[in-house]
Amino acid sequence: MPELPEVTVVANQLKAILLQKNQIIDSIKLYCEKSLRTVTKKELEDLKKLKVIDVFQIAKNLIIETEDKYFVLHLRMEGNFKLLKKDKLERYDLKHTIASFKLNDNNWLLFDDHRKFATIDLFENNKQIKDHTFFKNLGPEPWDLDFEKFYQQIKNIKSTIKSFLLSQKYLSGLGNIYVDEVLFSAKIHPQEIVKNITKEQFKKIIDASILILKASIKDGGSTIKTFKSFGEKGNFQNKLMVHGRKGLACKICRTPIKKIVVAGRGTYFCPTEQILNINK
Ligand SMILES: [Zn+2]
Repeated sequence: MPELPEVTVVANQLKAILLQKNQIIDSIKLYCEKSLRTVTKKELEDLKKLKVIDVFQIAKNLIIETEDKYFVLHLRMEGNFKLLKKDKLERYDLKHTIASFKLNDNNWLLFDDHRKFATIDLFENNKQIKDHTFFKNLGPEPWDLDFEKFYQQIKNIKSTIKSFLLSQKYLSGLGNIYVDEVLFSAKIHPQEIVKNITKEQFKKIIDASILILKASIKDGGSTIKTFKSFGEKGNFQNKLMVHGRKGLACKICRTPIKKIVVAGRGTYFCPTEQILNINK
């Protein structure tokens, strides 16, 4: 499933396409009505001649900002984009397509998802996005965090660090892959209870989050199963230290990586370097 780095990679590629000189989204055609939640098919298809101002991500959402509307797209498990010329489009099977965006340079941007879980929402302004239930319970991303305030809010929480980070409530941006990587880097056991984690250890968690997410974005994200951005796989999966490496030697200390289930998710860690504080 695409996480923050993968969504950022897609956003950057979309931005390069949609912010080209004189680029306009001429029209939109919707193929999958169940992908819409805050807009109707007619409202969407009535939009014409949209000038894109910016493309960015908020957590795992892609935001396309136009002069008077904000599109919020969510890839879910396997949503992806393709850019096709008109002649290619005529031979293209649209059965997995959620929506197509006709661009004024005669290219078509297709938003596809063969599982049809991907979504499109439309908002009038930034404030409406921030206030919406999709976003209301999202904490800041690690680079926007006020560390002192964050630490005071969370220091007595009794859940495991893995479920705490996955919840996105106080810190957003880390999904299953990157939580494992960050906890390995900070040498924290995934079942450690938040209130038993020291302030210094939390500082390491935040620093590692920034470093690892940025490194993954630079590398085109991680392709664990199917992630591709405009047909291209990421490269960061080859650099993962623990996630997906059950039984393989730890890249630092050679101990076989262990897999357990925490918060209902497959969780990988190094049993030599990530020790519960109580056992230290
Ligand atoms: Zn190790």
